[in-house]
Formats: sequence, structure tokens, C-alpha cells
Amino acid sequence: MTRIVYLNGDYLPENEAKISIFDRGFLMADGVYEVTTVLGGKLLDFAGHAKRLERSLSELEMDKPAGFDDLLEIHRELVRANDIEDGLIYLQITRGSDGDRDFAYPAAGTPATLMLFTQSKPGLATSPAAQKGIKVISIPDQRWGRRDIKTVQLLYPSMGKMMAKTAGCDDAWMIEDGHVTEGTSNNAYIIKNGRIITRHLGNEILHGITRAAVLRFAREAQMEVEERAFTLAEALAADEAFITSASAFVMPVVEIDGVAVGSGAPGPVASRLREIYIDESRKAAV
Ligand code: PMP
Repeated sequence: MTRIVYLNGDYLPENEAKISIFDRGFLMADGVYEVTTVLGGKLLDFAGHAKRLERSLSELEMDKPAGFDDLLEIHRELVRANDIEDGLIYLQITRGSDGDRDFAYPAAGTPATLMLFTQSKPGLATSPAAQKGIKVISIPDQRWGRRDIKTVQLLYPSMGKMMAKTAGCDDAWMIEDGHVTEGTSNNAYIIKNGRIITRHLGNEILHGITRAAVLRFAREAQMEVEERAFTLAEALAADEAFITSASAFVMPVVEIDGVAVGSGAPGPVASRLREIYIDESRKAAV
């Protein structure tokens, strides 16, 4: 089955969707994105992703090419057209193109590029990795200073992922001034004496939609949450560690820089949070 994608108002077979070589997303990484998870054919926390998208656009003074209802309809149509039971929907908006290359933004009124595609991932919520946990390495955080904006400039996170792979691990936690910022494509957490510790919001990390939901569920379950920066040394001495993202949900981290975290197996708090997050998100899915 040929994948149907969305580009600037049209639903097209993927090989018919074409974008200008002058598109600023291509030339300047001048674009933002969102990834929304589909479970059982329904969208998880669509409202959260739509809200963050709006914020990313506004921080970059980019026009919004479609409203909430239109975006929701496009997501749903792609789920239908591609028969997605479990998977992801990738959305990207760029500042478009005015037919040449220039550092200055194009003239006002230049249409943005709006593109979406689906990725089918059967059994996404029952990933075997969650039973085993993942291994991470630490690397310096060498990204730009506005990580709260979800831009498509993902070269350093890609390099980090490759450094992890080369080291026989799954991902990298990035370190700045001795403190963990986040994973290459996820937020980072440790658990010490029953307290869930994760970095506070700011320009240094992406404000994860999964993070917001997991912290809400944790507080509702009377778990203690501390939003503050933690050091790599704290992480190495933690009882448990985990990451969150729209596609990984809550994923236990069992090793950091070759050192086992706690027992070296997924811990009870991370496992419980994963269960709660998946259950509650399914219930609220649209
Ligand atoms: N941090 C970074 C750097 C990310 O790329 C992502 C996922 N895009 C996250 C955190 C997690 O965000 P979310 O829970 O919204 O997927």
C-alpha cells in the first residue's frame, strides 16, 4: 500500500509530494515539527501537541498555516487513509520559500509549507524495550540555546544517537554545566528515595507533552515530584531512571555510561508510570 501524505492542502501518494529546493526548511532548518502518537486508531494528547506547535510558531514569528480543527481533521484523515492502528504522525511547518536563498525571512505573506506523514508501528505500546530498559551514554550538550522551540535542526541529536550506537547503547543524555538537560529525543528523569526528579522547564529543554502528562499522573497518584536540574553523579547513584517521549511513552533506563542504575533492571516506579500513562492516554485519546 502506498503511503498517503499531506502537503499544502493535498493528500498525495508519498512519491508525488514535492517541495521546492529553496524551501527554508531545507536550506536553513527554518521549520518546526510535532510528532503525535496513534494508539488504537486514535490520537494521544492532540491538544497538547497543537498547543506546543502554536508556541513554537509564535516564538519564531511564523504564520500558522492551519487552525486547530483543520489540523485535527488532517491527522484523522491520514490515520484513515493509511489504516493506522498504532503509529506516529509527523507534522512539519517551514517558513516556505520565495524562490531564492537569503538569510532574511521572506516577504510577509509568503505561504508556509505544511507537510504531514504517518509511520505505522504495530504494537507500539508493547515494545519489548520497555521490559529490558535502555542503556544511555552521557555526552556534552552542544545544541543551541532555544531547545524549548521544537525546530527541525536535529543534527546534534542525530550525532548523539550515533555516538550512543557506536558505544553499543540506545541513546545519549546531554550534559550542560554538570547537569543533565535531556535525552536526544526525550526528557530525562531519575528516582531517588521515592522522589521523581526531572529538570525544570526553561529554554534548555523541550517542554515534553509526555512529560507534562506523566508528572500530572504521578502527582495524582500521590508520588513526590521535584522539578530541578540533577547532576550526572546523582543519576549514577539513583534508584531508577527513565525517559519520556510521545513515541517511547515511559521507558526505563537501566544503564548510564556502563554503570547499572539501581538493580540494573526496570524499576517499579518507572514501570507503574508507564502503565498509568498508557492507560490514561488511551482513555483520553481522540
Ligand atoms: N526532548 C527532546 C529534545 C525531544 O526531541 C522530544 C521529542 N520530540 C522530547 C523531549 C519529548 O517530547 P514529547 O513528550 O512531547 O514527545
